[in-house]
Amino acid sequence: MQPKKQLLSLTPYKPGKPVEEVKRELGLEKIVKLASNENPYGCSQLAKDKIVEELSNLNVYPDGYSAEIREKLSRFLGVSNDQLIFGNGSDEVVQILCRAYLSPETNTVMAAPTFPQYRHNAVIEGAEVREIQLVNGHHDLDAMVEAIDKQTRIVWLCNPNNPTGNYIPEGEFVAFMKKVPRDVLVVSDEAYFEYVAASDYPNTISYLNDYPNLVILRTFSKAHGLAALRIGYGIGSSSIIQSIEPAREPFNTSRIAQAAAIGALDDHSFIEECKQKNREGLELFYEFCDKKGLLYYPSEANFILLDVQSDADSAFNYLLKKGYIVRSGNALGFPTMIRVTIGEEEQNKEIIAHLDSYLATLVQKVNE
Ligand code: PMP
Repeated sequence: MQPKKQLLSLTPYKPGKPVEEVKRELGLEKIVKLASNENPYGCSQLAKDKIVEELSNLNVYPDGYSAEIREKLSRFLGVSNDQLIFGNGSDEVVQILCRAYLSPETNTVMAAPTFPQYRHNAVIEGAEVREIQLVNGHHDLDAMVEAIDKQTRIVWLCNPNNPTGNYIPEGEFVAFMKKVPRDVLVVSDEAYFEYVAASDYPNTISYLNDYPNLVILRTFSKAHGLAALRIGYGIGSSSIIQSIEPAREPFNTSRIAQAAAIGALDDHSFIEECKQKNREGLELFYEFCDKKGLLYYPSEANFILLDVQSDADSAFNYLLKKGYIVRSGNALGFPTMIRVTIGEEEQNKEIIAHLDSYLATLVQKVNE
């Protein structure tokens, strides 16, 4: 039995090797994974406390409407209750949007390279995918507008963009929204929102009234440190959110995830601290790259894409042997770059030292 023909062109998501397996294979005591943009500082104690409280309710289905976190988050964001949709990670909200809007007669526009799940889910729905190359790591918004036609249903903005870390400033975002037809959905994926420091980063929520075709995606997986629990959300006009609700599974976010998110939302100082330490970590990488003349993209997220002046896989393997797992740019559309999640201070210093010795091996090879 063959599945839908679209599935034949796709491969399942390939997660990095589990840390335990790499340890065993390489005989290493310590492995640091800086590959999936997770929060190296864990999550808030308030989230952990809520999880423990919830353990006595595991026999009961979760609240399918996520009423408590919905109420709290809507107050926090200044939107109404019916403007939110929760997903099993923001990944699932991407899937719901694609299920709701895309079909073989439609197309969808996105940057390339960008977060691969937009393309993946669009292909499953049989939609045509229109990929517009980044320019210097930035979305080419003019070209994206030009790619829109009568069959376009969704345009994806990844802000900050994964894997480059670049952001779309407010002026460009607004100019873009003005040009997009009102019957085309614009999804602003802001998975790294809490890390952004740029003062001209758009407060997209404030544009929801002007642009009812805008949907914003955020998550508890990154700065909130709850990646394991899978909870993310979409924010949009109530009419859009209500119209996509039927495409959501009834109990798609767990009790534990909802409880943890409620606790996490209360801990502003945890987020501030993580943001601050992330910035300091980024600065260390910038300093190193500047000193070594390595190309990199300034990042508003918790990762950096930097050039290793050689095949990305060779740098990846070198770092792996030293106990550091990063993402090779080969799989991300940047064959001479690696994407490194910003870790704790000691980890950042150590991986930078390893990168330094890796670069020295390249010089040695040239001289041989
Ligand atoms: N969007 C972007 C840009 C991401 O990088 C990620 C995680 N890698 C996600 C969405 C999905 O995150 P989650 O499903 O954990 O909320």
